[in-house]
Amino acid sequence: MNINLAIKIGAKFLRNKFILNSYLDSEILMTRAVNKDKKYILLNLDKNLNKMELAKFNKLILKRCQGNPIAYLTNKKFFWNSEFFVTSDTLIPRPDTELIVENVLNLTKHKNKINVLDIGIGSGCILLSILKERTNFYGTGIDISKKCINISKINAINLNVSSRVKLYKSDVDKFNLGKYDLVVSNPPYIKKYVIKYLERNVAKFEPKIALDGGLDGLSEIRRTIKKTSELIKKKGIFILEIGFNQKNNVIKILKNEGFYINSTQKDLGNNDRCIVSTKI
Ligand code: GLN
Repeated sequence: MNINLAIKIGAKFLRNKFILNSYLDSEILMTRAVNKDKKYILLNLDKNLNKMELAKFNKLILKRCQGNPIAYLTNKKFFWNSEFFVTSDTLIPRPDTELIVENVLNLTKHKNKINVLDIGIGSGCILLSILKERTNFYGTGIDISKKCINISKINAINLNVSSRVKLYKSDVDKFNLGKYDLVVSNPPYIKKYVIKYLERNVAKFEPKIALDGGLDGLSEIRRTIKKTSELIKKKGIFILEIGFNQKNNVIKILKNEGFYINSTQKDLGNNDRCIVSTKI
C-alpha cells in the first residue's frame, strides 16, 4: 500500500470515531510511522510502505481512535518557540500556559543573570522557554515525578540550555535550596472530583498527579505559595497559573503569605488564568 492510500484509509477510521482533523492527524501519524517529516510525506505519496511501517501506522491510528492525544503518539508538542519532547508522564503543554512566559519576558527586559525557580516543572516547557529567551538567566526546576525530571533534562539538552539549569526530584515541601528572583509555577489545580468531567481524553490520558488539586482544588497551590514565600527574594516576582474560578481565593492566600498582587490575566478562552505578584 502506498503512503497516500494509507493516509486516506487512516483518516476514514478516525472520522468514523468522530476525531476532528482526521486527515491532518492521519498525516501526522504517518510521519511518525515512517520516521520522516511532513515534506517527505508530501513528496513521496506514491511510495510503498514496508510491512513494519504499515504495522506501525495501523497501531498509531488505532490508538488515536481510542482517544490518545496526538502529542503522546508523536512524543512532541510545540510550546512558545520550541518543540518539546513529551510522554504520558507529563501534562501536554497548553497554549494558555504561554501567558506565564509572556509575563516573564515583559517583566525582565532589563534583568541580567537572575535565578528562576519552576515548581512542578513537568515537561520543562515554562522554565526552558524562559531560559531559551533570556540567555543569561539561570533556572532551577523541581518535580515530584522522577520521570518528569528526566524528560525536562532531555528538553534542556534539545533547547541548548542545559548548562544553565538544575533539576531536582523533590516534593515541594521538602525543597529548601537557594533564593530566587523569579518563581513560576503551573501546579495541579483541578478539584479531585471534577477531573473526570474535564475535556474528553484529558482525564483518560494525562497524568492525574499533574491535575489533582485535592478536594478544593487549592491544596497544591497553597503548598506552592507557601514554599515560594520562603524561597523568593524580597521584591522577587511570582507568576502562578490558576483555575478559572480560583482568582479570589488565591489572591487571599498570596496576600496572607506576604505577596503584593500586580495583575491577573485572562487566557485565550477569557478565563482568569494567571496571577503576577511581588514578595514584599
Ligand atoms: N489547564 C489544565 C486543564 O484544564 C490543568 C492544568 C493544571 O491542573 N495545572 O486541563
